[in-house]
Amino acid sequence: MDLKRIGEFGLIDRLTKRNGFPNSKLDIGIGDDCAVFKPSPGKRQVVTTDALIEHIHFNLSTITPYQLGWKSLAVNLSDIAAMGGVPRFAFLSLGIPTHCDVTFLDSFSKGFHDLAGKYEVELAGGDTTRSLNDLFINVTLIGEVSSKKFFCRKGAQEDDALFVSGDLGDSALGLELLQTPGKSWIASKTARAQLIRKHTQPEPRVNLARELVSCNVKITSMIDISDGLAQDLGHICKANSLGAQLWEQELPSSPALRKVCRSNNLNPMSYILGGGEDYELLFTSPSKDAKKVLRHFQKAEVSVSQIGVMLASPKKLTLVGENDREVNINSIKGFDHFK
Ligand code: ADP
Ligand code: MG
Repeated sequence: MDLKRIGEFGLIDRLTKRNGFPNSKLDIGIGDDCAVFKPSPGKRQVVTTDALIEHIHFNLSTITPYQLGWKSLAVNLSDIAAMGGVPRFAFLSLGIPTHCDVTFLDSFSKGFHDLAGKYEVELAGGDTTRSLNDLFINVTLIGEVSSKKFFCRKGAQEDDALFVSGDLGDSALGLELLQTPGKSWIASKTARAQLIRKHTQPEPRVNLARELVSCNVKITSMIDISDGLAQDLGHICKANSLGAQLWEQELPSSPALRKVCRSNNLNPMSYILGGGEDYELLFTSPSKDAKKVLRHFQKAEVSVSQIGVMLASPKKLTLVGENDREVNINSIKGFDHFK
């Protein structure tokens, strides 16, 4: 259906009517000039925003509208998780070109609200405009952290243990599979689907972040991995004037990634270290607590692995491989929009 039939306000109604959970936490919701809400007592607000631009962040030939709606919220949820926050209100701005019709936007909205409902996030507003060529999506997410306990990039100390959630590299390999359909890949249907799903419909680590806040282990710094392990670890190093040593044998990768890399003669390390959009959490704890962290998260819904330690030498990033051979990996670059 053409957007002309329903118009801007008809579309806003459709985008917002799915607002999943019954009891609005807003004093004033969608339909006024601003949203109004009460911050919870004793909490601090955390705010993040992320834009997704067609042909830069996504291509409509490789992602469905449902997945795009999901992912546009997921990337923001991941940032709130990285601070140890609980997400609350989302704002969705869209620049819509003529190739996105009402059916497209309905699916987009379903993907967005399915994820929003899962973490009790309420869509509280946004903006809707026309766009000449490309679809433009911007989500702003407001969350809360305890004023006594939240996590930043700064705080890691020399010798701290370095941890990561889940598996690394799947998203980047999934994207490659999507982008090179003409290549004769050797990959099972299941492995393929799993890798692609990590790219198109990532699961933000909101629950793990909550657990990290409530458990009694000390987390000294945290970041979410959106631009690749090496690059995002580089941000932790820079924020703390430290370096880091990674242990190749401990870097977590999925059986799907290992298998597809083996069958197609690819080096898994390039995806694990440099691949973007994993949306896993990377965090540090004092070394003396390392065992406690691993024990605590043994039964968590997502695995937690110790992958290395923080070093005193500023910015130096190394990888210890087989036979304890240590190589410098400072040259591994993650995603940069302007390079
Ligand atoms: P104004 O012109 O005052 O900026 P709008 O007409 O743009 O207001 O928006 C009307 C209401 O609809 C506001 O509450 C706004 O937050 C909401 N809104 C507009 N676009 C979206 C969207 N894409 N998603 C959610 N809410 C939206
Ligand atoms: Mg407006």
